[in-house]
Amino acid sequence: MSESGSVGQRYRVAVVGSGPAGFYTAEHLLRRESLPVDVDMFERLPVPFGLVRFGVAPDHQKIKAATRAFERIAGDTAFRFFGNVEIGRHLSVDELLRHYHAVCLATGAETDRTMGIPGEELVGSHTATEFVAWYNGHPDYRDRTFDLSVERVAVVGVGNVAVDVARVLCRRPEELACTDIADHALEALRESRVREVYVLGRRGPAQAAFTNAEVKELGDLEGADIAVVPDEVALDRLSQEDVATGDRALNRKLDILQGFVGRQPSGKPRMLMLRFLVSPVELIGDADGRVRAVRLVHNELYRDATGSLRPKPTDRTEVLPVGLLFRSVGYRGVPVPGVPFDDEAGRIPNVEGRVVDPASGRTAPGLYATGWIKRGPTGVIGTNKPDAAETAACVAADLESGVAAPPVETATAFERLVAARQPHVLTFADWKRLDAIEIERGATAGRPRVKLDTLDEVRRALDDQ
Ligand code: NAP
Repeated sequence: MSESGSVGQRYRVAVVGSGPAGFYTAEHLLRRESLPVDVDMFERLPVPFGLVRFGVAPDHQKIKAATRAFERIAGDTAFRFFGNVEIGRHLSVDELLRHYHAVCLATGAETDRTMGIPGEELVGSHTATEFVAWYNGHPDYRDRTFDLSVERVAVVGVGNVAVDVARVLCRRPEELACTDIADHALEALRESRVREVYVLGRRGPAQAAFTNAEVKELGDLEGADIAVVPDEVALDRLSQEDVATGDRALNRKLDILQGFVGRQPSGKPRMLMLRFLVSPVELIGDADGRVRAVRLVHNELYRDATGSLRPKPTDRTEVLPVGLLFRSVGYRGVPVPGVPFDDEAGRIPNVEGRVVDPASGRTAPGLYATGWIKRGPTGVIGTNKPDAAETAACVAADLESGVAAPPVETATAFERLVAARQPHVLTFADWKRLDAIEIERGATAGRPRVKLDTLDEVRRALDDQ
């Protein structure tokens, strides 16, 4: 790559985070022929792809095919990958701003929301994000333990993450054994004594966040029979009003759910129960501080001032005995040191991707956001394409108009700085070697790959070559 940073030469953009939003933003910048730009991507983990590697469920391999597009993007000679480099630890955002024309944050939504109810801290009460990261071999979650010796599990929330968690709990071990699930998770799930999984929605079926293909799949599992409570999937008057003006996809979703009414258990090893109009109000613990039950209140719906249907508690409650509970009530972004953050929304305040300082209302020069940290944790992988295009267009416009100040330091100075702060940077070429190793390890076991899931394993694998 050529030296950059002065007039007539190339623009330099840093992208922080290597999930879909980061890669699509890089792609939108790199394919602008009129814009001579070099993109450096930083990832705190040794390996790329963020939620595609660590979020997408192992039994949904087709979705992971998105990485082929990311590899094409990484193949551009103007692209570099800096794995194992954490912004906020090895380098600050201010340092990046001294070396790049623009810094684009694509850090996703790394943590979860809480329910804010008593007992949430009991042993056996977990976030779905922990469980997902654990079964996907995320290095930070490798050592988590989940007591799968219990018979009944609750998953709170009816989004696609809740569906993933419930489905993985219900899969037969043989089905998981041919995926890229982490070895430690496969081993634990083989021993699982879970028999009943309850997925709990606080509103009705017409407001469920999961998508049709995902909920339909729950009705076709080899490892679990599905059940619903007929009264809970019947539509109340307000939902009927919405459905009358709703789209075909919503009607299809309701057909799928109502098709589950009256399904008889067919002797599958597990039972998956989809519940609606119930909210956890308390987790009840045993003498050892472990979850033994969840108290639910039954809800009805009302229309709020914005026209949305919201849950309202009735005086009817029930106690559901469960030994494990996963809350899957939405992800949440975490602040990046040195970057404005909207704590209430859990994302970086921005206008079309230009970061805004809420104190002054002015844009923060050189700073941009893309993906979940920009818009919140919604949408599928493809949703990041138009989102990234919007941010990239702002970056490009600011570069071309000269709004983005040139970096005060040279590219060579930057390389020296990184080497001083983190001697163990992993490049995309390193990742390609690791990828080949993982695929080879998987081939002998009939699996798409067997993941290397600690930095030590990664280092050893590279050193052994
Ligand atoms: P989500 O779609 O926003 O669902 C969150 C769920 O939590 C909703 O059902 C929500 O109910 C519920 N909830 C929130 N606060 C609650 C509370 N206090 N008590 C009870 N329930 C509560 O989020 P997600 O499942 O984390 O998924 C994030 C994004 O990733 C989504 O866009 C999803 O489609 C996507 N994703 C896609 C796939 C796939 O394509 N296969 C897989 C995984 C994730 P309300 O609606 O009532 O607020």
